[in-house]
Amino acid sequence: MDQSQPNQYQLNVIFLPYPTPGHMIPMIDTARLFAKHGASVTIITTHANALTFQKAIDSDFSSGHPIRTQVLQFPAAQVGLHDGVENIKDGTSPEMLGKISCGIMMLQDQIELLFQDLQPDCIVTDMFHPWTVESAAKLGIPRLHFYSSSCFSNCACQLIRKYRPHESFVSDTQKFIIPGLPESIEMTPLHLEEWIRTKNYATPYFEAIFESEKRSYGTLYNSFHELESDYEQLSKSTMGIKCWSVGPVSAWVNKDDEKKSIRGHTEDLAKEPEWLNWLNSKQNESVLYVSFGSLTRLPHAQIVEIAHGLEISGHNFIWVIRKKDGDENGESFLQDFEQRMKEINKGCIIWNWAPQLLILDHPAIGGIVTHCGWNSILESLSAGLPMITWPMFAEQFYNEKLLTDVLKIGVPVGVKENKFWAIIDEEAMVRREEIMKAVVFLMGSGQESREMRMRAKKLADAAKRTIEEGGHSYNNLIQLIDELKSLKISRALEKSILDN
Ligand code: UDP
Repeated sequence: MDQSQPNQYQLNVIFLPYPTPGHMIPMIDTARLFAKHGASVTIITTHANALTFQKAIDSDFSSGHPIRTQVLQFPAAQVGLHDGVENIKDGTSPEMLGKISCGIMMLQDQIELLFQDLQPDCIVTDMFHPWTVESAAKLGIPRLHFYSSSCFSNCACQLIRKYRPHESFVSDTQKFIIPGLPESIEMTPLHLEEWIRTKNYATPYFEAIFESEKRSYGTLYNSFHELESDYEQLSKSTMGIKCWSVGPVSAWVNKDDEKKSIRGHTEDLAKEPEWLNWLNSKQNESVLYVSFGSLTRLPHAQIVEIAHGLEISGHNFIWVIRKKDGDENGESFLQDFEQRMKEINKGCIIWNWAPQLLILDHPAIGGIVTHCGWNSILESLSAGLPMITWPMFAEQFYNEKLLTDVLKIGVPVGVKENKFWAIIDEEAMVRREEIMKAVVFLMGSGQESREMRMRAKKLADAAKRTIEEGGHSYNNLIQLIDELKSLKISRALEKSILDN
């Protein structure tokens, strides 16, 4: 198809991501999928964020897919930030995070104007832009709510909001069963997001997000039927709105190693990175990958516990560490640790950002310690890996339950409290003995861990099939695009009747 020629029947879709990797990466992948299947796609973002995915967009465009990026100026100076700091992952302190969020909010009017200029047939917007529900209403077009986590977590959160099972408790550690779920899932009030547990300043914002979902045309999940069919069903029935699971989107559009290595990051990968040579020298399934996602920066005391826990487990590991402000005091500890691990050939540290997709797919990787971010979960299970679950904040504690209690491919390290990294105190939440125990269990060859590994491999097979022609996710995507096209045609017909 010649993408320079506008086609009156072609669907024009705007994607509006929220600038944090866990939301933006899967939305860019989804936008690329829409373009691959014939929709004309515009992604609205800012300069520094565009740099993290523009190569993939350019390569898709040269392959004939109608996709482009519309770039806005981030108001860095107005909010007191350096140029280029435009993503939540760039925040190394609570103050910086506040400024970045403020800058994102200031873009609202410009985005609204762009919507009017571009006259799309549909907008797919991140859940963190609830205001776009009004924009879609004004334009008379459908809004798709992009929920960047599991159906399970959305259902669990909605049910807890509705029934508030935790409210009558005297203790924050008392267990309750989440009402209305098909399985009996136990949690404590401390596992819940702070805005639900205590109703704080963030509560109205999250309530607006849930309201915007109800008023949307439907919800788009980066998930797949074989993984969470009961919850997909429940999501439709409890919320009464349509939903489509079209994942795992990452495996669908990032098939070759080059695409995997540049995904979500500005810098190119070194030709022969040290970690790759090291992994190549290791036996299959003998290395544990340890990552807490794109945002979390752990306190020094916790880093020390992890280092000791990994060392005494005796297993090989690759550990991704993100620095935070004031970390200088702990630097010599980590330098010594890194040096010692190199000498005994047990471990490798990657600073700040790792090419996660490439690493997870390496045959030497046998398991992961994950903070239960949804993308990391999908990427790990697509690689057939069992997980040690170490949730930190937001909906990650629900995701942990999905892994440990429903899918049974995760072993909990035993975290007790939901806390955002920027307000975590300086103490360690998990001790070295607990870390060591979980690692030895997961990476060992006991019956239970072998069974967990087999279940993870079965899910990896299902993840591959679902995105192939005829698979559930594949069909859902095609059906959604067709439905949006029919809506476009009906709107055009209605307009021509009214005009005549
Ligand atoms: N990611 C990566 N390298 C890193 C950290 C994160 O490639 O060093 C990617 C990861 O593969 C995933 C996303 O960033 O796609 C993080 O999303 P997730 O939902 O796992 O967690 P979050 O960062 O939102 O807490």
